[in-house]
Amino acid sequence: MRIGVLALQGAFAEHKKALADLNVKTLEIRQKKDLEREFDGLILPGGESTVMGKLLKELNLFEPLREKIQKGLPVLGTCAGLILLAEKLSNDNHVYFGTLPVTVKRNAYGRQLGSFFTQGEVKGVGKVPMTFIRAPYIEKVGAAAETIAEVDGKIVGVRYRNQIGISFHPEVTDSRKLHRYFADLCEKAKSGNL
Ligand code: GLN
Repeated sequence: MRIGVLALQGAFAEHKKALADLNVKTLEIRQKKDLEREFDGLILPGGESTVMGKLLKELNLFEPLREKIQKGLPVLGTCAGLILLAEKLSNDNHVYFGTLPVTVKRNAYGRQLGSFFTQGEVKGVGKVPMTFIRAPYIEKVGAAAETIAEVDGKIVGVRYRNQIGISFHPEVTDSRKLHRYFADLCEKAKSGNL
């Protein structure tokens, strides 16, 4: 089992470290050639969605990755990664992968005061520390998708089949619960039990 981590920009090293702590192998995805190797899940890290979106297209990673997600590859998008997955952005005209049926608001907590720390419950995972950094939140969840986390009445986590999108950064905390949950999902998908 190996999990690909999109490593173009942003907090990919922290995700790799989190998975290494769980003895899960990772593969950095930086260029098209990297897709020749097998991987059983994909993490889209936080960072700057506009930059990642542009690089994904320039490096010809965009279409093959979108196809893999659509075919059921488990994917975890954190913060900017959630923005990359969203079907719609309420305050931005871009749509990137567009595979997750949610409407997301970018920089939803404001640009200056948008970073904060709290703890909250994630369905199927338990209570986890949550670090928000110029974070988006989810304004609308499509009928087939499930809300898995809320903070102060705002939706900050959603799951739709093989896709998980969260507003916060689990990789910058000591908790590995969310990465454990995602790695288990990847194991299940690999053995055809998702
Ligand atoms: N504000 C960033 C964006 O819109 C996301 C911030 C993050 O990933 N920490 O892409």
